[in-house]
Amino acid sequence: MFIAFEGGDGAGKTTQIELLRGRLIEAGYDVVVTREPGGTQLGTSIREVLLHGDHVAPRAEALLFAADRAHHIATVVRPALARGAIVLQDRYLDSSVAYQGAGRELDPAEIKRLSLWATEDLLPDLTVLLDVTPEVGRDRRGEVHDRLEAEQDDFHARVREHYLQLAAADPGRYLVVDASLPAQEIAAIVAERVDRS
Ligand code: C5P
Ligand code: MG
Repeated sequence: MFIAFEGGDGAGKTTQIELLRGRLIEAGYDVVVTREPGGTQLGTSIREVLLHGDHVAPRAEALLFAADRAHHIATVVRPALARGAIVLQDRYLDSSVAYQGAGRELDPAEIKRLSLWATEDLLPDLTVLLDVTPEVGRDRRGEVHDRLEAEQDDFHARVREHYLQLAAADPGRYLVVDASLPAQEIAAIVAERVDRS
């Protein structure tokens, strides 16, 4: 099973992945936790360029995220799924559709096609969207750590709106949770949905 966690910066994805990982490991599952960008050695280099390089042209940015994703899916995620592991992934293609598609105002449909080409059409079984407003996200993440976090609230508002549109269009694949709820409450909602999947 392949579960992706999505949401704006400061939504609490890492916390929720750790809580779900603990629960699944206790239940005896083989669990792989990974992330994009940066889930491989190549991806670590791409992440560095993306987050800490100088200006990156929007289309170059989209291609770098897609390159990271292509390598990560081929070398980490597909092998893990093939042996029957549950993969919990911090960000996947919806991040690109929302950030590069809507945030950078490249065409979201084209960005989705690029990601599907990169991954040979791998979609998650479940995508957990931790929905956070730009204001709460900004307060939670505190200081700016990277080039992409430094984007203004209107960028993050476009990202959030697009995430919500994606989820509304395909309720079978998404679970949307209000990220301002207490972490344990969110974890219980996620666990209930995962148990049904
Ligand atoms: O979630 P994480 O902190 O690893 O993401 C690193 C940065 O890259 C964040 O600022 C996030 O908003 C940004 N990002 C992006 N487009 C993506 C994925 C992440 O702009 N497709
Ligand atoms: Mg971050």
